[in-house]
Order: sequence, then structure tokens, then C-alpha cells
Amino acid sequence: MMKTDELPKIKRNVLLNPGPATTTDTVKYAQIVPDICPREDEFGDIMKQIGRDLVRVVHGEDAFTAVLFCGSGTINIDATVSSLVPAGKKILIVDNGAYSGRAVEVAQYYHMDYVDLKLDITKPADLGAIRAALEQDSDIAVVYCCHNETGTGVLNPIREIGALAHEYGDTMVVDTTSTYAMIPIDMERDNLDFVMSSAQKGIMAFTGLSYTIGRTSILEASRDYPTRSYYTNLYMQYSFIEKTGQMHFTPPVQTIYAARQGLKEYFAEGETAKWGRHQAVWQALVDGAEALGFELLIDKKYQSKLVVSLKNPNDTRFSFDQMHDLVYKKGYTIYPGKVSDLPTFRLCALGAITPEDIQKFYVVLKEALTQMDVQIPVQY
Ligand SMILES: *Cc1c(COP(=O)(O)O)cnc(C)c1O
Repeated sequence: MMKTDELPKIKRNVLLNPGPATTTDTVKYAQIVPDICPREDEFGDIMKQIGRDLVRVVHGEDAFTAVLFCGSGTINIDATVSSLVPAGKKILIVDNGAYSGRAVEVAQYYHMDYVDLKLDITKPADLGAIRAALEQDSDIAVVYCCHNETGTGVLNPIREIGALAHEYGDTMVVDTTSTYAMIPIDMERDNLDFVMSSAQKGIMAFTGLSYTIGRTSILEASRDYPTRSYYTNLYMQYSFIEKTGQMHFTPPVQTIYAARQGLKEYFAEGETAKWGRHQAVWQALVDGAEALGFELLIDKKYQSKLVVSLKNPNDTRFSFDQMHDLVYKKGYTIYPGKVSDLPTFRLCALGAITPEDIQKFYVVLKEALTQMDVQIPVQY
């Protein structure tokens, strides 16, 4: 491969949306490889290494396997919800945001038996309510929740929820799409059986490769569970990867080369240092927002420290779209909120960005608000 510093620099945009995230040029250029058929051993070896590395990120070397899919992150929700519920059993979905709501929709689309435990979306899931739901219905076999509800930035107590699930003998599935390779996760310590993510989030590579990391013994047991989907059946994909080292259908070849580079850079930066950097970016996002008078939607103590949800000011001259367009022209991408009855917008701390990027962003944001004639500090 050519050295990246010999290649033309690519315009750097700072993405503050909830993924895809800003990538390094080394990850961008890792996609430029000679054409290769993914059925060659050379590519199979790369797949095997990536599978091992994905498991290593969550410290699951002894008892877990990575199952890879070609698709965006939602493919993991589809696969885990549809593949892990035994005949005659139910899935309990801890529902406190748009992403756990997506799991409810998957269960509906597959006509499955499920319990939708609707909870306050501005707070971490209530353990008492989860225990009551488990106590009430002995048909529940799988507990599902989202770690960081990316729509609000609320962090759920997965270790405690996992302990409850295991107390009732259930499988614990967590959507860690927006925390994996950012917040340190340890499968056994955190009482988890299945987690998931997608290459455009924590490992800072590209959309098109997603993975579920699951307890191998449960993957094996799921051979006998009802099949509800073909393309996203976990056991089918797992057993094919086990047998051949390959994904069942054509993998996203170039995206996988970029993911390999992203993982290399993840391990080079280190679990603790990377999480420290994301938190420093989050702190810079909060500090800058508060300096302009913005109000946070979620209490800081409930936040994942990866997403900041801000309330739109009560000012007739404020327009999210106009603000977006002004900062976008300067290389910064911001994102609308995902809370249906409250106008908010979001700034996220994902990707290859630093607190210095955020300080520069706020200079640009302040200019944009001034240009729009919005009063500063912003008013509510
Ligand atoms: C990004 C994300 C997903 C996946 O979304 P896609 O658009 O399908 O990639 C799933 N869950 C959470 C919590 C996410 O943040």
C-alpha cells in the first residue's frame, strides 16, 4: 500500500451527526486495494482476523463469536430480534427511545410475541419496572435494550439489566451500536449475551459492514429456534462463517478493508484513551452549548457522554435548517433531534475528532447565530 502522506489530502469534514462519523485519511485510503474475489483464502484470512478483533473489543475471546452482515446497523436489530426467541416464548423490549422502538417494530413485522415495556425517554430504564415485567410473564426468554439511546443520549444501565435478565434465565441482547468501541464494554462483567455495532460508528470506518457479537453456546442453541427471516437469520450466518470463514453472501469487500484499518487504529489508540477522548469532546460540546445559553434536554448524570441533545431556543429568528446550512458550508454537520413532541437538535461526540475541533465549531456556530440575528445567549 502507498503511504498516506504521499496521497492527496481529502477535505476533512467534522461530522457531529450520530454516525457515520469522521474518519481518518488512513481509513479512507484503506479501501483502495487491488480487485479481489472475496472467496480467495487471502480475503478469508482477513475476515477471520476481523471476527477475532471484533470479539476482542468487548473482551469476549473465550465464549463469543462475531457474526457479520452486509448492511447498516439496523440489520443487527433485525437479526437479533428475529433469531433468538425460542418457539412459544417472548422477547421483552425495554423501550425508552427511538432505537429500542425500532426493535419493537421488527418484532411486529415478524409477527412475534413481544412485550413492549414503554418507559420515560428522558431517563435511564427503571430496573423495578423491568423486574416487574419479568415477574409477570414467565414466557419471556429474551431481554432486549439499547445502551445509548442515540436519539436523546440517555445511557441505560446494561450491567444491572443484564443481571436481572440472567436472574430470570433469559438471554440479554443490547443494541450497543452507538457505544461499541467507545464506552468500554466487557461481555462477562456486564452480563451480556449479544451486542451489536456497525463499522461507521465506534471503529470509525464505513457504512455497509455490521456485526453482532454473541455467546457461542446460545448461537448454537438457536439452531432449533423458529426461523423468521432468511437474509438476517443469525444461526444461518454464524454456521456459514464457522464452516467456511466467509460471509454467506457477497461481503462489502472494500468496506471490510477499511474496517480492518479502523480496528488497527482502535487498538493503537487504546480502549481507555479513546473513551477519554470521546468524553473530552462531549465536555467541549456541553461547555460550548452552555456558553451560548443552550439548554440540555437530558440531565447530565443520565447522559452517555456521546450525544448532546439541545432544546431549540424560543426565538422567531431561530431556524435549525438555516443554522445547519450555515455551519455545513464551513465543514460541520449537525443533526435534528429525534424526540417527537419537542423541537431539539443533536451534537454527537463520535468519530475521529478532538476538543479543538469543537472549539472551532462553536466559533462558526456563533457566527451563524449572529448572522441569523438570533439573540445570544439564546432565549427560552
Ligand atoms: C446508528 C444506530 C443504529 C443503526 O442505524 P442504521 O441507520 O441502520 O445504521 C442502531 N442503533 C443505534 C442505537 C444507533 O445509534
